[in-house]
Amino acid sequence: MKFQVHDMDGWARSGTLHVNGKILQSPCIFLGHSLNRGNPLSWHYFDVESILLNAYDLSVQKIDFVRVRKILGFNGVLMMDSGGYQIQRFKRNIDRKTIIQIQETSKPDIAIPLDYPLTPKMKNDEIDKNIEKTSRSNEYWRKHYPNDFIPVIHGYNEKYLIDQINNLENTAFLAIGSFVPILMYSDRKSLVDLLITIRKKYPDVFIHFFGVSYLVAFLLFLLGADSVDTSAHLHNARFGSIHLQHTGPRAIASNTKKRKRPSAHKILDEEAFLNENCGCPICHYLEFDNLKVRGVRGLQLRGIHNAWVYKSAPAELRKTIKEKKTAKVIEKIFSQSGLNYLYKYAKRKYLT
Ligand SMILES: [Zn+2]
Repeated sequence: MKFQVHDMDGWARSGTLHVNGKILQSPCIFLGHSLNRGNPLSWHYFDVESILLNAYDLSVQKIDFVRVRKILGFNGVLMMDSGGYQIQRFKRNIDRKTIIQIQETSKPDIAIPLDYPLTPKMKNDEIDKNIEKTSRSNEYWRKHYPNDFIPVIHGYNEKYLIDQINNLENTAFLAIGSFVPILMYSDRKSLVDLLITIRKKYPDVFIHFFGVSYLVAFLLFLLGADSVDTSAHLHNARFGSIHLQHTGPRAIASNTKKRKRPSAHKILDEEAFLNENCGCPICHYLEFDNLKVRGVRGLQLRGIHNAWVYKSAPAELRKTIKEKKTAKVIEKIFSQSGLNYLYKYAKRKYLT
């Protein structure tokens, strides 16, 4: 596995990742996919460069691991993490050997070792314990996993993060979890500060961030992230929400009002949506009202549309980085958003 940066625009960067005979341009987004519950296979409708699966999900679905790519019909770059969040949440007892066996058999292009995520409520000794266990996993993968993998760390403060990165000794690749999900719900400005701190210290390392939503992906890419993953395109689709370009998720009013758990998202401005003329296959071939449909079909149509919007974000930035217009484009995107203060903070401190 090899990564090379070829264009810089402030902190934002674009580059090329060579992995398993495949080429992936960065910044890039790995669309999270679960084999569960009728999730759409967006890559059957348009080009999707990279997706993220998790080994735990594969084991729950009891599919033949060897046939994962065939079952999905996916030929792009496949990253597979352990599913550490679910394993922890459902208190499953799954060991490193089991996860490695699933990864060795299903052959993702990039594997992520079994990790032990942090939660904001954890006490210090629990945090230390999980960090130690994740670090032992990285070591275990280094010894036992025969193919490409990216070591994973979890943390949301400088000391934990820098200590763990230093322990990895000159790694060229890094995946960071419990960072965006925790800091976006607690201390958003320190997310900006920490990312820049890491970038300054490790300018050459390819860095992936786990669990990122649409607008936050733009902010992370602006500040030097190379890669992110998201499942928000499916999650939002499930709860009846769709994306316009450059805005957060919007609920489709007539549908979500009836739901037991209505989405907290703002209501979609249908006229603005239609004026945008989305180029995804769903909006291109079907009437708008199809996006309001309930049940699995509605989930699938919204999921495919959302996947299109998400995957267009890094593609757009690869262009703006080359043209050195990234900050300008992101300033415009955030000016409409409740996160504008965060962009302004980043700009004041790091972009001028
Ligand atoms: Zn669309």
